[in-house]
Amino acid sequence: MLVIRILPVPITNGGSGRKLGDSMEIISSNVKKIIINTLQARGAKLPCPRCGTNNFTLLDGYFTQPVQQDLKAFSVGPSVPSVVVICNQCGYMSQHALGALGLMPAEETVNNG
Ligand SMILES: [Zn+2]
Repeated sequence: MLVIRILPVPITNGGSGRKLGDSMEIISSNVKKIIINTLQARGAKLPCPRCGTNNFTLLDGYFTQPVQQDLKAFSVGPSVPSVVVICNQCGYMSQHALGALGLMPAEETVNNG
């Protein structure tokens, strides 16, 4: 049986002022449950592809992968927001695009009228 814990993962503070091991939540417990339920509903239930373990932790935060459009001029432009599931045994990280999961917030519409 696949188990995804929703405990925070100690990560570098990335200049946010948070200390390592700080237990403050970045993603609320409710949203984490929605993410995990969505992953399981979409069939993301297989064991770790590297070590075969069935225990994972959902990273308490998001990744955004910058999409490069020119190999000669790297820039920060469009990106792919994702959640990360980390294998508790070997540390393998699986990224799941929030847009593909239908978990991106709806874009705000501008109404000038
Ligand atoms: Zn693993």
